[in-house]
Amino acid sequence: MKIGIPKEISEGERRVAIVPNMAAKLKKAGHDILVESDAGEAAFFSDSEYEQAGATIVADAQSLYPEADLIMKIWPPEKHEVEMMKPGSTYIGFMAPTSRLDIIRQMNRMNITSFAMEFIPRIARSQSMDALSSMASIAGYRAVLMATQHLGKFFPLMMTAAGTIPPAKVLILGAGVAGLQAIATARRLGASVEAFDTRPAVREQVESLGAQFTEMELVENAETSGGYAKEMSDKFLKKEREIIGSRIAQNNVVITTAQVFGEKAPILITGEMVKQMKKGSVIIDLAAEQGGNCELTEAGKNVVKHDITICGKMNLPATLPIDASRMYSRNITTFYRHLYKTLYKTRDGGLDFEDEITKNTCITHKGEVVNKIVKKLLRKEEQTRD
Ligand code: NAD
Repeated sequence: MKIGIPKEISEGERRVAIVPNMAAKLKKAGHDILVESDAGEAAFFSDSEYEQAGATIVADAQSLYPEADLIMKIWPPEKHEVEMMKPGSTYIGFMAPTSRLDIIRQMNRMNITSFAMEFIPRIARSQSMDALSSMASIAGYRAVLMATQHLGKFFPLMMTAAGTIPPAKVLILGAGVAGLQAIATARRLGASVEAFDTRPAVREQVESLGAQFTEMELVENAETSGGYAKEMSDKFLKKEREIIGSRIAQNNVVITTAQVFGEKAPILITGEMVKQMKKGSVIIDLAAEQGGNCELTEAGKNVVKHDITICGKMNLPATLPIDASRMYSRNITTFYRHLYKTLYKTRDGGLDFEDEITKNTCITHKGEVVNKIVKKLLRKEEQTRD
């Protein structure tokens, strides 16, 4: 099997899907590894390191895509990238499967078997494949460092000859993967941290990191039977905003990470609430890409409104390209190994659709869209077109 690693072309992207030591492991497992020249350059992995790992450097994307039996990538492929893929080949990477239906149709027409990294279920045995969690953890860490840059105040308590300065107060909204990493990072920097989440189950994790968990009387169940966050009613969100509103003015930094998978981010901070914050405070809105948890967030931008800096910067993992590439590389390789192992479980040597990880992630296979969620979206799109 020839595995192709193209250079990412999305603007500002510095990560690469496979780092040299993972390329060496895949090579040892019997695969040929083709790496587009300079694919790892922005993450400081040179072509010569890939060559030492046993990979072959290929001059450009036009020579790489048609040669590869399997493409491993980070960003969903663009139309011209899919056009270059070998018909009948395999793709693994993020796919934005609910929004890039055009790309999914194109892949299907070319009989490409595709797997979306976003759809790896958050279950114990797939933890080491969960790239969304790896990247969210990086974003949580980076969010705190960004806040330190914009806040005109120390994070830790400082006892100086010029007096004692109290620690910064940080409020984290949403204590999932990104939120917990943000709590841990802000605590390491000495801030006083308070966190809030609709799932009471996270209280213990929040407290074990040395932060205070803000209690809210739950008028409705916030969790699905599987323990995932549920989309909350308008009535609930109104009550929640009142509670956050009563806390927000006491904090110097607010980091928002609240989301329910596949839904628009809930608005937890209104423009009026921003006005009540102390001048010079900072909001880092990690949900900017899903519409933002703050009403005044502008996706991809840092803006100052009512003397509050609001950061809606996206793709924070690309700002830590070395470790982000290492983590993604391990996630995608572990996932690939899982697929490879299960290939032999079925009678025809095909994919094992009894397996939850394979079933969830496979989008197109043998000229068919096999994923339930994507199938439904395609049907809906066709109906509205008719
Ligand atoms: P997650 O699902 O692990 O955590 C989200 C948390 O929000 C959950 O604990 C959930 O219970 C909580 N939540 C949901 N609705 C809420 C509400 N109304 N009030 C309070 N809490 C609520 O998600 P994650 O992987 O930690 O990602 C968090 C956010 O960070 C997402 O929006 C994700 O897209 C974003 N993200 C941004 C970047 C970036 O570069 N900007 C990178 C990775 C992730």
